[in-house]
Amino acid sequence: MKHLNYQRQSLWQKPTDVLCQSPISLTQATSTAIKGQFVTIEFDCVTTRKDQIVGEQFISQGLLNLFGNHWHLERFHFHEHSEHRIENHYHDIEIHFVFKHDEAILVVAVLGDVTIDSPSKITRLFENNYARFELSPLFPDKSNYYSYQGSLTTPPFEQTVQWVVMADSIQISASDLATIKASYPSNYRNEQPRQKRKIYYHITP
Ligand SMILES: [Zn+2]
Repeated sequence: MKHLNYQRQSLWQKPTDVLCQSPISLTQATSTAIKGQFVTIEFDCVTTRKDQIVGEQFISQGLLNLFGNHWHLERFHFHEHSEHRIENHYHDIEIHFVFKHDEAILVVAVLGDVTIDSPSKITRLFENNYARFELSPLFPDKSNYYSYQGSLTTPPFEQTVQWVVMADSIQISASDLATIKASYPSNYRNEQPRQKRKIYYHITP
């Protein structure tokens, strides 16, 4: 399938009504700290993998409780390197878990870095072993996170997206990174202006 050409992203369809775009740079110093608002996610098992214009998608189910709503997991995918910059640092990968509540969209982003030698469970996903795949190891142990309002990072950019960006990264190996890169080569959107947006840093126990 034909995929988005990230070398030509300046030519992508321009957003019309959602001026606050993603990704952006996130730092604790420029965020408002909030205590609590814990993210809880219950996952079912991954069922299918689907190639789309925006890249390969893992279609899955799960439930997230946040901001007083239940959000249903629809799919997840990878970016290499990260799209968000955390404390002025790009990470090796970023995983996007796309949730919906009616028509509203919330994306949980998890950053990952090459820090271990042996392949993590991520490699199993790409070997088509996603039946009964546990998604929880794809999340960091600590659950501090940033939240802000932005957009999808692939066209169309119209709809407002609630972002939850986990502050701590997960550990992957060089071979995991090579596997991810084969399916998602340099698929990161350039950083977008913050505008006057409020960014929150949630400190959870
Ligand atoms: Zn994404």
